[in-house]
Amino acid sequence: MRELPLTTPLFEILGARAPLLRRFEKIGIRTAGDLLRHFPSRYEDFSKIYPIAELEPGQQATIQAAIEEIKLRRTRRGFAVVEAELSDESGTIRAIWFNQPYIANTLRAGRIANFSGKVSLSEESELYFNGPAYEILKPDKEGRSTESTHTARLVPVYPETKGLTSRGIRYAVRMVLKRNPEFKEWIPAPVLARYGLPEVHKAVQAVHFPGHLEDALAAQKRFAFENLFLLQLFNVEQKLKLSRETAPAIPVDIGQVKAILAELPFELTPSQKKSLWEIIQDLEKTLPMNRLLQGDVGSGKTIVAAMAAILAAARGYQAAFMAPTEILARQHFETLKKLFGSIASAEQPAFGLLTSGGAKMVYENDLEANIKKPEFQKKVAKGEIKIVIGTHALIQEAVTFNNLGLIIVDEQHRFGVRQRAALLRERGAGGRSPGKLIPHFLSMSATPIPRTLMLTVFGDLDLSLITELPSGRKPIETRIIAPLERQKAYDFVRSEIEAGRQAFVICPRIEEQTPASDIRQTSDAGTATLRLGNQLDLKSVKAEYEKLSKKIFPDLNIAMLHGQMKPREKETVMREFKDKKSDILVATSVVEVGVDVPNATVMMIEGADRFGLAQLYQFRGRVGRGTHQSYCLLMSEKPGEMAEQRLQAILKAKNGFELAEYDLKLRGPGEFFGTVQTGFPDELMQALQNPDLVKESREAAAAIVKPDPLLRQNAALREKLSEFRKKVHQE
Ligand code: ADP
Ligand code: MG
Repeated sequence: MRELPLTTPLFEILGARAPLLRRFEKIGIRTAGDLLRHFPSRYEDFSKIYPIAELEPGQQATIQAAIEEIKLRRTRRGFAVVEAELSDESGTIRAIWFNQPYIANTLRAGRIANFSGKVSLSEESELYFNGPAYEILKPDKEGRSTESTHTARLVPVYPETKGLTSRGIRYAVRMVLKRNPEFKEWIPAPVLARYGLPEVHKAVQAVHFPGHLEDALAAQKRFAFENLFLLQLFNVEQKLKLSRETAPAIPVDIGQVKAILAELPFELTPSQKKSLWEIIQDLEKTLPMNRLLQGDVGSGKTIVAAMAAILAAARGYQAAFMAPTEILARQHFETLKKLFGSIASAEQPAFGLLTSGGAKMVYENDLEANIKKPEFQKKVAKGEIKIVIGTHALIQEAVTFNNLGLIIVDEQHRFGVRQRAALLRERGAGGRSPGKLIPHFLSMSATPIPRTLMLTVFGDLDLSLITELPSGRKPIETRIIAPLERQKAYDFVRSEIEAGRQAFVICPRIEEQTPASDIRQTSDAGTATLRLGNQLDLKSVKAEYEKLSKKIFPDLNIAMLHGQMKPREKETVMREFKDKKSDILVATSVVEVGVDVPNATVMMIEGADRFGLAQLYQFRGRVGRGTHQSYCLLMSEKPGEMAEQRLQAILKAKNGFELAEYDLKLRGPGEFFGTVQTGFPDELMQALQNPDLVKESREAAAAIVKPDPLLRQNAALREKLSEFRKKVHQE
């Protein structure tokens, strides 16, 4: 049979009028290939066919039976009930389906079919099947179907969306597989052999319709490996590319470093010193630095990065310092001005700030002036402004530098992978004229991801970790608040505000959910199971804002911040909070990561059970930045053992990474990765849950690239990698 290209649109396979088409489209499945990449989330074992006489209550089983009788009736309230009597040589049993009247037409008396489902016991102590999955068999000689899809086997169960059942998906997948889809193996054979991975077409078959569970698991392993392997290749390749480039060697005068540090109002922490030292060593080399400075919120990354900028400027090089938001850019500008204003005049490196809103510069001590953008651009191009702080505007407005020696990017993950790519281009990595220098690169992030995983995701970067907070910070008093203590907590917030402080209130979601959207049909077999999501009582920013500003604190200024607001609105709200124009800020987890509001002393977290530990820890890090005692109130819906365990973890943890690892163990990868934003595809994040696989994929990638850096011997792999590159850049 001719092979079916994976790009074949589904309508060519299912028929243009198949109702399934639209439902698939809704979840982004359009081609044969898309569909085959929609993997089951689990399998139900219906592989053994039981005689009816051997069925027991509570059992999940498959029978093969003749339909003796089938009828549709309606209850007094109008529900459709289909009832059938099924028989085999050993006995008879009843089956019942709710709300699926059409079954009375599909399953006719006299037919033979497989039925899979749960055996229940009725009030009259009779066994019956409650909403079994069924599959009509074309009776062959033995009366058995050779190729069952829904029953009598390991049955795949897919993640379902409204209107799209596992049954429907199985049907469609089967249709595609029958047409002999075309798979190209691109993982080199030795790699497959070495790590025990099935070949692609076998894996696709096995992941959807496994003969044995082991086959399914091996197939899943292969698909997880695919993603990691590509990412590792991507990383190795980036690193290799960079190693062929040359950066300016920036000699650092250690005496000068000491002198500058001596002027600071505090001493650097040990890991700040270590990180700075690592950066200095990189700067002095011609191999372009490509380093990630990772540390909790408040751990003092800015000063370390700023030092690097100052040192580059001291040798006549320019440095660009990019922040994800205007307010953060301004904050950095102010920090540098405060800390290094005096140095600025001595060495004459002026600081400049460029945002979409405008430009300004510092030329002496703390003398600063607004200047017109074109003039700013000119000064940068001539190399007169040494340290240029800014937002995206730095990229968007195509600032040209005279001799850029260092690029610093704060909260790197928030720029997304695409901007990172744009930056690299800016930097000139890859395919340029020989002899041109490219700047060193330093990025900063506070996203707490377990270390091993971070090495994978940011595997092309070297890593400097700040593992402790500056000493002298007062520990933040952290408490779990039970539902009954809510009023007391509000009274406490009020007392803090009356003392002149401010408070954050964090909520798990933006809007109240309508109950209807949370009721869903969960059973594949069609039982009318309605599950009421326990999400109904999740606090929302909008409702909480209403409640606090109208009922609880009508006399105070309450502001609101969430991800649906325009960047400009967010900036304004944040700035006003920083300027103390509002007392309480109700926000989702988007509340600006790096913004310093030293006057805020209360962090109240609604639905604290819903957040990951690392996330709670990060929220908490937003208070306690000033001289006042600060508090973190964890509003718990279900105070108890689990809550206690989590609290202890937060109280004891030395840093965010430690918590991230613990969190991963405690909640499992699904929920953990649900909360971390890296800019990488979800499936990749899921694959990261397996540390062994991470290791294997690293090994495999290194073994391939070392002898063959350009993948000349591996055309299929090369092609796949360029697809992956495109995908990553589109995210
Ligand atoms: P982040 O790592 O979250 O970006 P910042 O760089 O904004 O943290 O630092 C948080 C605060 O801690 C700033 O006010 C900064 O001046 C201060 N800080 C930084 N390093 C130290 C230190 N070693 N000792 C005391 N305070 C410090
Ligand atoms: Mg910061």
